[in-house]
Amino acid sequence: MLEVGPAHELFGNGFRALAACAGCDRVVFMLDDESRAMVHLTWTGHVESPPWPETVRMGGFIATEIAMDQHEH
Ligand SMILES: [Zn+2]
Repeated sequence: MLEVGPAHELFGNGFRALAACAGCDRVVFMLDDESRAMVHLTWTGHVESPPWPETVRMGGFIATEIAMDQHEH
């Protein structure tokens, strides 16, 4: 994730993409500790200043499903 700079909460985590929203630029990532985070990518190709990219941490599968279903566009 190019947008995550050293001051961002996810910097230094290993993560892999689990799911992407078909309607916007939010992508759910699985982190090293197996928690999940939904990140609103900016696709600017450079490091953003926190709080960007906007990040929502989620504990588990159900919370992830709800976040993907109910976020606003
Ligand atoms: Zn969306």
